Amino acid sequence: MADPPPVKPVSQPDELTEPFFAAGEKGRLLLATCDTCGEMRLPTSPTCPTCLAEGVTWKEVSGRGTVYTFGVMHQRYHPAWEPDLPYNIAVVELEEGPRMPANIVGIENDDLEVGMPVEVVWEREGDAPVPRFRPMA
Ligand SMILES: [Zn+2]
Repeated sequence: MADPPPVKPVSQPDELTEPFFAAGEKGRLLLATCDTCGEMRLPTSPTCPTCLAEGVTWKEVSGRGTVYTFGVMHQRYHPAWEPDLPYNIAVVELEEGPRMPANIVGIENDDLEVGMPVEVVWEREGDAPVPRFRPMA
């Protein structure tokens, strides 16, 4: 009997990030925003990297941005990604400023361009929603 296919080790909700994933289930993108200085914490952290305060409020962002940079992976580093090769990893600069690592979907890798406008689209990996981006129509 063949081994089961390998599973991608994707981020899972925890006490800190549960609001992010709960919003993702509804197709909304929330970022942890510092109650003291207003900095959006991406990646999410319990302490603000700018002012070291702890209070945080989750604020919805537009889900729109532009491709800041990207690369295309041709090497298999984990067996679960082998069917996806070659796949892209991009950094999307959100309209609100933070830069978010994500895959760009709905486009061939050869057609990706820095600066292209994209919007968030939520996909599932296992039981967790994963934010990815697609070119804006
Ligand atoms: Zn702060």
